[in-house]
Amino acid sequence: MENSSDFAAVPDAFQRLWTPHRMVYIQDGQQPHPDDCPFCLAPDMDDEKALIVARGTHAYVLLNLFPYNSGHLLVCPYRHIATYDEASPEEIAEIGTLTQIAMRVLTAVSKCDGFNIGMNQGRIAGAGIAEHLHQHIVPRWALDSNFFPIIAGTKAIPKLLGETRREVAEAWPPGTE
Ligand SMILES: [Zn+2]
Repeated sequence: MENSSDFAAVPDAFQRLWTPHRMVYIQDGQQPHPDDCPFCLAPDMDDEKALIVARGTHAYVLLNLFPYNSGHLLVCPYRHIATYDEASPEEIAEIGTLTQIAMRVLTAVSKCDGFNIGMNQGRIAGAGIAEHLHQHIVPRWALDSNFFPIIAGTKAIPKLLGETRREVAEAWPPGTE
């Protein structure tokens, strides 16, 4: 069993119903230790372990360990900054470029119909890891709504994270990492 606190992720209030039988990512106590910033630790790990799909010069892209949907990506600057207004012009530019590429890759890989993209700034705004800036890219499908979130606070994640990471990483265009 792998320890979920070793992975970079943004916890939220949803419980998840994991359809695959291998539940290697599931365990109690999923909040990372507050002294260890998972978005600072992730780039030092290998891509598979950290769920990283692409590395840029100023920012990188990883799969969210606590996805709202299959293919839920996060774009993070390497630098430990909390809010968007602290980001440098270079970081802003690369976060934007990586977000565009992520949209194209997810569209090609998953045939999604739309996206929710955004940043929660501060815990009051819903940031799971408020100390390190991260942009959410959540693919959406026309038929992706189901009754689970309404009746049980549960979302069905139909693919293992490792499988999704590999698909997205392999579809990522060369020269952008
Ligand atoms: Zn950090």
